Amino acid sequence: MGLSEIRARMDKACTAAGRAPQDVELIAVSKVQPAERVAAVLDQGHRVFGENRVQEAAGRWPAFQDRYTDIVLHLIGPLQSNKARQAMEMFQAIHSVDRPKIAQGIARLAQEMGRCPDLFLQVNTGEEPQKAGVLPQEIDGFVAECRALDLPVKGLMCIPPVEEEPSLHFALLAKMAARNGLSGLSMGMSGDFESAIAQGATHVRVGSAIFGERDYG
Ligand SMILES: *Cc1c(COP(=O)(O)O)cnc(C)c1O
Repeated sequence: MGLSEIRARMDKACTAAGRAPQDVELIAVSKVQPAERVAAVLDQGHRVFGENRVQEAAGRWPAFQDRYTDIVLHLIGPLQSNKARQAMEMFQAIHSVDRPKIAQGIARLAQEMGRCPDLFLQVNTGEEPQKAGVLPQEIDGFVAECRALDLPVKGLMCIPPVEEEPSLHFALLAKMAARNGLSGLSMGMSGDFESAIAQGATHVRVGSAIFGERDYG
């Protein structure tokens, strides 16, 4: 596929939903992808990327940042407390705030550093035991707790269960965001970003449809 086709499909989905294309940010998920593929997307002018692991991002992005200006990095994968400082230095947004302990750690570091990335709170909408995120019934309390910590909460994030209809999860996330007065919705991946846009996504996280399949081998 590639970047221009994904952009075209996003525009079409926005038009169908009566939304403005500039209201949906495309995060190109570059995790595990070879550097040549990432460079090719940078050469096409794209600057907003998502990574799953702090370590992997730290290993590859400084070199790109020397060659390309205005790169914006989003952390979309799990965050451990001992990586929080490094993550806050490297990423403009963190989509995976999923428990009070990490929220408290980020708040402490934000005080010390005098700044904080945009934060999205991850919701385990499918209530899957192996998946990160707070449970749907816990999200209102978690939003309140993060606000009490003065954290810049921009919105909510979810990864629907693979075997379920994603639009139901996107609609649920949109409802939870709306009742908490949050405008950001990080939802939608290669297989379902159009449905996410129809449900109000403000940030779609698209990897393999832009870069090709990931080779974990
Ligand atoms: C890997 C990943 C994506 C991108 O997945 P694709 O199916 O390749 O588009 C999006 N969000 C998260 C949280 C991911 O880990």
